[in-house]
Amino acid sequence: MTDTYDVLIVGGGHAGAQAASLLRERGFEGSLAIVSAESGYPYERPPLSKAFLVGERTGDDIALRSPRYWRDHEVSLLDSRSVTRVDSIGRSVTLDDGCRLGYRTMIWATGGTPRLLPGTESTPGVHTFRTLDDAVALRDIMRSAPPTVIVGGGFIGLEAAASFRRAGADVTVVEAQPRLLARVTSEPVSTYFSNLHRCEGVELHVATSVEKITSEDGRLRSVTLTSGHVVSASVMLVGIGLIPNSDVLERAGARVSNGVDVDERCRTSLPDVYAIGDVANFVSPYSAVPSRVRLESVPNTSAHARIAVADIMNSPAPAQPVPWFWSHQYETKLQTAGLIHGYDGRIVRGDVDSGKFSVVYLHGNRLLGVDAVNHTGDFLGAKTLLGTGAEIRMDPERISNERLKLAECVAAAQPVP
Ligand code: ADP
Repeated sequence: MTDTYDVLIVGGGHAGAQAASLLRERGFEGSLAIVSAESGYPYERPPLSKAFLVGERTGDDIALRSPRYWRDHEVSLLDSRSVTRVDSIGRSVTLDDGCRLGYRTMIWATGGTPRLLPGTESTPGVHTFRTLDDAVALRDIMRSAPPTVIVGGGFIGLEAAASFRRAGADVTVVEAQPRLLARVTSEPVSTYFSNLHRCEGVELHVATSVEKITSEDGRLRSVTLTSGHVVSASVMLVGIGLIPNSDVLERAGARVSNGVDVDERCRTSLPDVYAIGDVANFVSPYSAVPSRVRLESVPNTSAHARIAVADIMNSPAPAQPVPWFWSHQYETKLQTAGLIHGYDGRIVRGDVDSGKFSVVYLHGNRLLGVDAVNHTGDFLGAKTLLGTGAEIRMDPERISNERLKLAECVAAAQPVP
């Protein structure tokens, strides 16, 4: 006999866990299960590359809820199992252990898989970084402070670089683009983070990638870059982005572009199947021009979970909140409000060298977002302005005056509501 759940959640990360707990908080009384490819209960992912790696937080500290919570709220956890097939007509899924489950509503919250460097899959000493198991392995390795090459100068790579430096390891970062964080931010912020990592003793190589890996006696010895430079290392950490786990749903007929396409209520093109979190590709009202985006952040995941759960519960759709992101490296905090991609003007506020500044991004005069480096005031200012729901027109000259708050830089013709 096939077990059938009223809501079947596929994915036990932030998105799946949030959806499950929100359903129960909102009074959902039907049967509810989470299928998770990882073992154990859902945990917080952001600390893995930061506090967890350096030993400030443990596995228990980062649990999203206690095991008792899940039991008391009657959320079944089917862990260490993956969905390999979806039958959207028969409303059932097949798991990798052969088991079949039925669903009335499904929430696809599968996140993504770290991209690998081709040819390195089984090379000793090569790691990716996404799960608690990955972090446990790296934390143990980090104790002996081995010479480490980090491939990818995005958030994951740079947060790991900071953690490995704190453990005293020699760290080299290899970034294919001409600057760090090129996908997510602008030049002034990239330059600031390059200087920060260099000051902390990280060796940076940009506009280059891995040409060859040399191993000996089952151990990684060195990495040759396309620039010709050879780096001695016994550990290589690959942080070159995430591939959304959408293929199973795509095979079931769901519309997929970069991730699973969803509408404003997080509904996929399959009946009663939602997609939320890192795997979902949606139209954000915060984009410079209307376009689909796929965001990898916990705040985005929470927003999607709220939207999908409201729809399942036939409640009014909550507004899409302002997207925001953060990264913590050494003592520096980068906080981003809004979606800055597609900006055509940017203004730096404050002195980059002082380590406290922000970059305001505009499309025409419309405020798109802010990158705030150790400048929570501007981050919160931008988040509040964007959160009014109105298109905020800014006065570029006033923005340059860092003594003014961001709210005081709104163009006079458009009073702040
Ligand atoms: P993550 O969340 O894993 O940090 P991002 O996409 O933000 O993902 O960052 C990954 C970084 O890796 C990007 O800056 C990208 O340019 C870089 N990158 C991608 N492929 C390679 C490669 N083969 N060698 C070096 N860097 C790479």
